[in-house]
Formats: sequence, C-alpha cells, structure tokens
Amino acid sequence: MLDAPLPSRVRVLVLGGGIHGVGVLHDWVSRGYRDIHLLEKNTLGSGTSSKSTKLIHGGLRYLEQLREMGMVFEALRERSLLLRVAPDLVHPLELYFPILQEERISAWKIKIGLTLYDRLAGRAGLTPHKKIPLSQVKKQIPSLQVEKFSTAFSFWDGQTDDLGLVYRVAASSVELGGKISQHHQVERILPCAEGWRVQVRTPGGDVQEIVTQYIINCLGPWANTLLQMSDIPVPYEAVNNKGSHLLFKDIGLRVGLFLPSLQGDGRIVFALPWEGYTLVGTTESLYEGNLDDVQIDTKEIAYLLSVWNAYFSTPFGFSDIVGTFSGLRWLPLDAKHSLSKISREHVLGETEIGKGLLITLYGGKLTTYRSLAEKIGDRLMLHAGEKNQSCTHEPKMWVKKEQAPPVPSLQQRFYTAIPE
Ligand SMILES: Cc1cc2nc3c(=O)[nH]c(=O)nc-3n(C[C@H](O)[C@H](O)[C@H](O)COP(=O)(O)OP(=O)(O)OC[C@H]3O[C@@H](n4cnc5c(N)ncnc54)[C@H](O)[C@@H]3O)c2cc1C
Repeated sequence: MLDAPLPSRVRVLVLGGGIHGVGVLHDWVSRGYRDIHLLEKNTLGSGTSSKSTKLIHGGLRYLEQLREMGMVFEALRERSLLLRVAPDLVHPLELYFPILQEERISAWKIKIGLTLYDRLAGRAGLTPHKKIPLSQVKKQIPSLQVEKFSTAFSFWDGQTDDLGLVYRVAASSVELGGKISQHHQVERILPCAEGWRVQVRTPGGDVQEIVTQYIINCLGPWANTLLQMSDIPVPYEAVNNKGSHLLFKDIGLRVGLFLPSLQGDGRIVFALPWEGYTLVGTTESLYEGNLDDVQIDTKEIAYLLSVWNAYFSTPFGFSDIVGTFSGLRWLPLDAKHSLSKISREHVLGETEIGKGLLITLYGGKLTTYRSLAEKIGDRLMLHAGEKNQSCTHEPKMWVKKEQAPPVPSLQQRFYTAIPE
C-alpha cells in the first residue's frame, strides 16, 4: 500500500511523508483526482510528525499574542472536525492549569484566555473551562503538591496518536487512488519544459527521474536544503526549534497538566497521560545540529526532571525514564521576534518557472494540517483553472482503523538511547 512503483510522469508530486505531505495527498484525491504521487525518504511520519506533544488543540498559550488569534480559531475548528471524522484516533482530554501561589495575577490572565478559548471554539467546542478546587486536583493527582498553587482551572482539548493519524490519512488517500513510495529520497529538482524534473534515489541506489507540473515541498526541516541543492532560491529563511519529551511508566494521571517552569523562563511543561504512559515535555531551543539524528540531550532531561520534581512528591530520576523523543518545529524566520515568539502560523513559498509551480511549506501544526492542505489544493486549482472542491471534511473520505496499515508499536518508534 505504501510502496507504489515510481511513475515517470505525474501531475502533482508531494515531497515528504509527514502529516502535511499525506494531508496534501488526501486533499487532492478527495477532489476526485488520481494523478498524484508522494515520496518519503524513510517511512511515513518518521520526522517530526511522530514526535509531537500529540495534542489536537487551539494552542491556549498562543493567545498571549493577539496576532495568533486567527490561527487559534482555525485550529479549534479543525479540532472539532478531527474529533468528528476520526473519533477513534482523536479524543477529548481534560487538562488542569494550576496557578502558582506567587502568580495570583496570572490567574486573571488565564481566566480571560480560557474564556476567549471557549468563545473561539464556538458551539462545536468541548466542555467549557471552569475553576476547580485544589482538593479536587489533589484527589485526581495525589502526588501533586497542590499547596504550591493558589487555584486551578480545568479545560478540554483533543489528544491523538500523531503517527496513527499520519497512517490513517495516508491509507484514506491510497483508498481514493493516491500513490505513496516510502524509502525514496528526493535529491534534486530541475526545471524543464513541462514544469520540473525530479531526481529520486531509489532503495536499490540508482537515480530515477519523474517529470511533473506541480511540486509540493513538505520536507519540513529539510525543505530549504533540497532547494539549495537544486540551486533554487529559498522563498523564506527558517529556523528549527527543538522540543523533547520523556516517557515514564504510568503514574495514574487521568488528566493532563500544564506545569509552569520555576526557572523564570516563562516556559510551560506538559504532563500528559498517553497510551499507558506519562508523557512529560517540552522545552524549546534553537537547533542547528544533524537533522537526521535529533535526540534529547542531558541538559534537557535535567530540565524536564527538575520541573517535574518541583511539583510532585514522587520524584523521577534518569532511571525512571522509559523512552525519549525529540522533534523540530520548522518555523519561518521572523527577525522581529524571539524564538518563543515567532509565529506558529504557516507560510507558503512559491517558485514558478514556465508551466511549473513549486510550493514550499514553512511551519504548520499537526492540528491544522487538513485546512492547510486544503489551502494548497485551492492554490493548485487556481493555477490550473479548475474548480474541484476538497472533501476531506467528509467522514466518507476516511477509511476505518482496520483498513489502515498497522501503526508501529511505541517500542519500534522512538525510544532513543538516554545520554549518560
Ligand atoms: C516538540 C514538538 C511538539 C509538537 N506538538 C504539537 C502538538 O501537540 N500539536 C500540534 O498540532 N502540533 C504540534 N507540533 C507541530 C507538528 O508536530 C508539526 O507541525 C508537524 O508534525 C510537521 O509535519 P511535516 O509533515 O511538515 O514535517 P515532518 O513530519 O518532519 O515530515 C517531513 C518528512 O520529509 C521526509 N524527507 C526529508 N527529506 C526528504 C527527501 N529528500 N526526500 C523524501 N523525503 C524526505 C522526512 O523523512 C519526513 O518524514 C509539535 C512540534 C514539535 C517539534
């Protein structure tokens, strides 16, 4: 299903099998077309799309910046859509946001933010937020030192298995006629009379060419490298922001927690129940290392453990960690803002030569992949002068769990060696 033979010619070529690549594939075939092929150099979802915090959310903390309001609104709309079309993959999760004793003022800010969050979600939203007594928090999470907090709020978001979502979208696309070749690495893009000639390294080691009119570059952190190797000017500069997670044996968490870092850096650490584990992440730092080997380092582990241990009476140490994974947020560079304030909004870069159009995606979120893919599909329609509509919002465009290939087990996916 995921190893179709390479075509010599195709109308649309999608590069990268993360959530955005498979989203674009699904969008195109849902419009009734078949002439599309996706290339992935490893296996589907092996990049950032299996290393996220696994939240299908509006992104409450993005409301701190007014300019992100539109993105939060769109993400909340997508959250309710995904809860509807893939209910076995995306489920509601209650989250607690406790406020530190010394930060009473921020309780008002959080309250305003949560009220806005509920309003933006509209009628299709989940259970509205509420203030909850600390005794209730203690009952739910007995090892949390609630005396550190002055109050707490409860609100709801969505949670998923990110890799499971990639597989489901991919299988739904293949069912509708999309083609995918894993283990095929794109090496170079060259202009030609029909649009583009794309050189692809096959698993056997030889190079084959595909001629195409449209290229959708969804290579995430690798996107600009390919353009540079192809002597194509990059439409936007971008940076990689690394985030990491630790997995512990389940401590009995049934709700998620937002834990403010105590180091005055304004970061929030998530503690979430996930697939029978307790997931703790994420820190954000600029990353300039090897894109093919992104791993948590000792400093990040120590940071996450220190936040956890500041709040829980059952401390965690290195030996309690059962797995780690790290991913890269590929963010369009914006000289005006610091790393944590760079917009999470996506941008689409366009390179047009003759008949050919190459669209490069910068940024994006797991939650909004579908609406972003729809925007890309609409752009192609405009270029082609055609009018077929995207139908990925319709449940009939989605295969059921049993029709998707089995998703690799957690052990097979991401457990990386823990640094000494
Ligand atoms: C730590 C962290 C936590 C996050 N948490 C959330 C969250 O909770 N909710 C949310 O909505 N979003 C979250 N995000 C954002 C979300 O995970 C990403 O926006 C999304 O996964 C990016 O997907 P992508 O398809 O653009 O890139 P990727 O998943 O990285 O896919 C790119 C693919 O291209 C392939 N590739 C690279 N080079 C080549 C080549 N030459 N030829 C062929 N294939 C190639 C790679 O192997 C890879 O599979 C998080 C991001 C990070 C980093």
